[in-house]
Amino acid sequence: MSAPTHACHAPGCNRLIQREHLMCPKHWYMLPDRLRRAINRNWRMRDHEAHAANCREAQDIILRQEPHAGGQDEDAA
Ligand SMILES: [Zn+2]
Repeated sequence: MSAPTHACHAPGCNRLIQREHLMCPKHWYMLPDRLRRAINRNWRMRDHEAHAANCREAQDIILRQEPHAGGQDEDAA
């Protein structure tokens, strides 16, 4: 497995994930199904503008569910 990794895009989350994933499983499954499908579709189609918009929407959704995110990473799992 030589897949390069990067940090989860969720605010305040530093979990390392594979390059083709946007977020770690915990944050990914916080997103609505339609947004996950849109992210996958735009990623495959290399639609960077649409993908960037999806990322911003995803971060917004997570910030609403984790208002403390962006501060410290409480990784209790
Ligand atoms: Zn995460």
